[in-house]
Amino acid sequence: MSPHLQPLAVYPGSFDPLHMGHVDIVHRAVRLFPGVLVAVLANTEKKPLFSAEERVALIQQTFLQYPQVKVTSFSGLLVDFMRVTGARVVLRGMRVVSDFEYEFQMALMNRRLCPEVETVFLTPQEEFTYLSSRLIKEIWTLGGDIRGLVPPPVQAALEQKRGTSP
Ligand code: ADP
Repeated sequence: MSPHLQPLAVYPGSFDPLHMGHVDIVHRAVRLFPGVLVAVLANTEKKPLFSAEERVALIQQTFLQYPQVKVTSFSGLLVDFMRVTGARVVLRGMRVVSDFEYEFQMALMNRRLCPEVETVFLTPQEEFTYLSSRLIKEIWTLGGDIRGLVPPPVQAALEQKRGTSP
């Protein structure tokens, strides 16, 4: 393999919960990189719907058919985690213009903290651009139908949380 090719891309995020926008980004990433590591941020300030362990398990179940997709959790600075993994590519999804400012700031800050790391942005299929974990949680909390917007393991876990599982 050429020394210029990057063997691993890290896709960090809260993924609380994983939805089809995230899944779409991972599907695109596996066509570009030999390995994709989905990294669940554990030290979020907000009280999460799913614990970091639950989120890792749900993402693992979703990508069972993809041996090149690995999942782990991390806390602290992303650049420190990148150093531990030895990976040099951070993957981020870019949905809409409003994502740009925050993502751009993060990419430049991460570059300042660790110049070897590059941030790569991927865009999802249009039908997933309006999805966010926050919106999924809001709709779900209010009893709305989120089928097709989250992968089956997440759908099942949400139904179980609500106690409506058969
Ligand atoms: P945050 O980092 O704000 O907590 P998430 O954990 O939900 O966001 O998302 C992780 C990554 O996935 C971010 O790069 C985010 O832009 C991206 N992402 C979120 N929703 C979508 C979507 N619908 N389509 C594509 N990428 C998305």
